[in-house]
Amino acid sequence: MKNTCDFLIIGGGIIGLAIARELKHRHSAAITVLEKESGPGAHSSGRNSGVLHSGLYYTPGSLKAQLCRQGAAEMAAFHDEHGIKLNRCGKILTPTAPGFAESMATLAERARQNGVTVEKIDERQLRELEPETRSATGAALWVPDTAVGNPMAVIHALAAEVRARGADIRFDAEVIAAQPRRRQVMLKNGEILSFGMAINAAGLHADRIAHMFDAATSCKLLPFRGLYWKLDPASDIRLNHLIYPVPDLRILYLGVHTTTATDGTVYLGPTAVPAFGRENYHGFDHISWAECPRILLSLARMFIHDQDGFRHQAWQEGRRAFKYKFAEAARALLPRLRVADLLPAVKVGLHPRIFDQQRGQLLKDFAVENSDHAIHILGATSPAWTSAFPLARHLCDQYIQCNVSPHANSATDDACVAPTG
Ligand SMILES: Cc1cc2nc3c(=O)[nH]c(=O)nc-3n(C[C@H](O)[C@H](O)[C@H](O)COP(=O)(O)OP(=O)(O)OC[C@H]3O[C@@H](n4cnc5c(N)ncnc54)[C@H](O)[C@@H]3O)c2cc1C
Repeated sequence: MKNTCDFLIIGGGIIGLAIARELKHRHSAAITVLEKESGPGAHSSGRNSGVLHSGLYYTPGSLKAQLCRQGAAEMAAFHDEHGIKLNRCGKILTPTAPGFAESMATLAERARQNGVTVEKIDERQLRELEPETRSATGAALWVPDTAVGNPMAVIHALAAEVRARGADIRFDAEVIAAQPRRRQVMLKNGEILSFGMAINAAGLHADRIAHMFDAATSCKLLPFRGLYWKLDPASDIRLNHLIYPVPDLRILYLGVHTTTATDGTVYLGPTAVPAFGRENYHGFDHISWAECPRILLSLARMFIHDQDGFRHQAWQEGRRAFKYKFAEAARALLPRLRVADLLPAVKVGLHPRIFDQQRGQLLKDFAVENSDHAIHILGATSPAWTSAFPLARHLCDQYIQCNVSPHANSATDDACVAPTG
């Protein structure tokens, strides 16, 4: 096995693999993807809702707004090319209280600016499209282009495609240290790998990897846990669309919503409850005691300054850790839902929010940091799964300037240069 490559991608999630695929489209360079787990999709890329977001939520001009709509089209095409089922059901956004009328108007305007098709519908149309839900204002938004895909099937197909194009994907390969000036990383098994350029796509660990390269030192992960419940198939509630509340635009989460997976399972959630470790998916599993003080301090800071409506989020999401409170939130969308209709779901994810300690706030958009011969992708939160392919293209266009000779198979001094500044 070669220990030298032109591009070293750290993290084999959707972002790392999409970048590997894009680089292989462009070059015959030697690409190695290092993934610490024994297979693909162990973290966010295999644990998300699988919604191909249409792009209506995001502030016009942000990277999320620029990439999401195109990303959804490309992700849908990927499903079709690989014979992966897609549920093209569309979605309904409904205000759950009269006060959300203004937010709904803001979203309709954002959708217009972001080029996303939405239609304002009245109570009668809502009843026809989705008899199980209701609107607190007599109006709702219908978003026909939202679909649901299959994240696990996608990540497996993508890994196979990237391998077939000649990239080397190595599982059980955890990076534990870096020597940026020597362009080397060390793996947990003691191996040293040399690279022309490193691309850090390590998701929940991206800030730690960046710190190994002396980059983004003020950025630290603040993980939030996303829990789901399943709708009991025996319940007589039948849904035609995904149903979302019009969200509180001060906070960074979309609120408890329904997602009908491609196998027909209806999930409700996810929540956004603080977690105390990078992989703290359940209870006390993987709590990082060393990181707890920092996480608590950042949460306290956000609470005191009420950043991004955090006091409201803490109150609202904290209560949703209890089943009956969660059911209450879901009932605002589905009035006939009973607590007994909710079954535990094994699905749980962690939102990789990044807290910038210098600026005292969470990153809201995708962010990229440069360092010597490396780039670091931080804050790849939703809709990063939807946007992965155009995001990879954007990163290659903007940050990865290459001068790789057609048959390069080793890292050379002038192989790749990450622009600084
Ligand atoms: C609950 C939830 C629901 C979501 N729903 C949606 C949705 O419906 N639609 C949407 O578009 N987005 C959604 N998202 C967001 C989306 O899942 C993520 O933005 C996306 O998967 C991020 O991909 P990634 O490749 O950056 O991270 P990951 O999938 O976490 O991949 C990073 C990889 O890096 C590896 N790694 C970490 N450290 C190391 C190391 N030291 N050495 C080697 N490998 C390492 C990890 O094992 C991991 O496999 C959701 C997220 C969550 C949490």
